[in-house]
Order: sequence, then structure tokens, then C-alpha cells
Amino acid sequence: MSTDRVVLVTGGNRGIGRSIAERFVAAGYKVAVTARSGEGPEGTLTVRADVTDAVAVDAAFTEVESALGPVEIIVANAGVTKDTLLLRMTEDDFDSVIATNLGGTFRVVKRASKAMLRARWGRVILISSVVGLYGSPGQVNYAASKSGLVGFARSLTRELGGRGITTNVVAPGFIETDMTVSLPEELQAEYKRNIPAGRFATADEVAGVVAWIASDDAAYISGAVIPVDGGLGMGH
Ligand code: NDP
Repeated sequence: MSTDRVVLVTGGNRGIGRSIAERFVAAGYKVAVTARSGEGPEGTLTVRADVTDAVAVDAAFTEVESALGPVEIIVANAGVTKDTLLLRMTEDDFDSVIATNLGGTFRVVKRASKAMLRARWGRVILISSVVGLYGSPGQVNYAASKSGLVGFARSLTRELGGRGITTNVVAPGFIETDMTVSLPEELQAEYKRNIPAGRFATADEVAGVVAWIASDDAAYISGAVIPVDGGLGMGH
């Protein structure tokens, strides 16, 4: 397995993105993270970027390229929720979630693809969610943004699959991060009852799967949706 490749993880200052960055650092990759606030883990280069801003994304890539070299593995992880029932959902609740989760992925992957095409090698890894295909009340904006990543990955696989570039979706279930800690306790207990594994996962359990998709062992996997959800989304 090549371990000196250049990886960029969006939203690598906390949560799942931070664990993914830590995994890649431990395996010897050259790792950069984007963050709007805070810093990535030790051993990473932190660059500032809001993924809703194409100019900021471009500048962040340019900074990574001059410090570490062209990005070979892009992990589009930055994401937000703005949960509420459809009738209460504002235009901004909807648009801002789509602009970050789906639009942000478009911006970073488009920027990353240039160097990947030149190198005829690349790994595009999109962090979706079990709710993208399973659905979730109060999350039409979030679920739409996350299921959109599946069509994105499959179209990109058909566009770039012949150039040594794979595009895959990782669909985590409930992971212990700031995003889930803020859920009411009774809701957390109800979710756990529905998860065959009977528990939430750690962010590192997602990171391990992402690292494997980036490895040479996964070279023939593309356009796949890989669940890391303890069985919650089975069949979806
Ligand atoms: P956190 O809320 O812990 O972290 C979100 C990350 O995204 C932060 O680094 C944040 O940066 C970054 N981010 C948000 N908006 C932007 C933006 N506009 N531009 C740049 N960065 C941004 O989330 P998780 O670690 O839990 O989630 C990571 C990904 O995993 C998300 O895509 C999420 O949808 C997905 N996911 C999470 C699950 C869970 O159970 N936690 C389950 C399934 C999927 P900053 O700190 O600067 O705001």
C-alpha cells in the first residue's frame, strides 16, 4: 500500500473528519485538512476554507499543492444539519444544507479532479449518511443532500472511472460526534433500539473504512455506497 500520497479532508478539525485525518497521518500519508475554525490533528496541514465559497476552496487547494503536492485523495466530509419538519423548514434551512453538503462536495471534487486527471490516479470519497437512502423525519434537506451524493458519485464514476479515479460514498449511521451528542437522550435511546448493533459507532470506525477505500486494495471499487451503520440501513 502506498502511504505517502497526499490527502485532503474537508472539515478535519473535529468529528469524523478529524478521525479520518488522524488515520491517514498514522499510515504515513501527507495530510491536509480544511477548517473554518480550530486546527486539524497533529501532523496535518490546516488550511482555511468554507466549502460554500469556490474562491476559498481554490485558494485552499493551491496552498496544499504548494506545501505537499497535488491532492491525490479527496475526502468530502464537511457537512451540516438544520433539522425541522417540512412545514417549518425555511428556504434558508433547505438551501444552506444543500449548499454545504452537496454544493461543497461539487466544489472540492471539481477542484481536486484536475490534478487527478493529470496523474491518471485519484480517490474521491464522499461522506454521506444512512439517512440519505433510509430517510428521516425532520431531515428532508439533509437526506436530499446526502442521497444526492450517490448520484454524484455514480455519474463521476462513469465520467472518470477510465482514468484511474474511483469515486465512492461512505454512508455512516449514528456516530458519536458533536452532531449526535446534541440529540435529545430519548431520541438517542430510540435510535439505538433500531440499530442491529445496538450502539452508535466511534468516528474511528468510519475512518478505518475511508482509509481502506483510499488504499490500493480498493482499486476496483467505484460508484459504491459503503454503509458503516451497524446494520441500520440494510437493504436501502
Ligand atoms: P461535526 O458537526 O462534528 O463536524 C462538521 C465538520 O464540517 C466540521 O469540521 C465543520 O467545520 C465542517 N463544516 C461545516 N460546514 C462547513 C462549511 N460550510 N465549510 C467548511 N467546513 C464546514 O460533524 P460530524 O463529524 O458528525 O460529521 C461529518 C460528516 O459526516 C458530515 O458530512 C455528516 O453529515 C456526516 N455524518 C455524520 C454522522 C454522525 O452521526 N455524526 C452520521 C452520518 C453522516 P467547523 O468546525 O469549522 O464548523
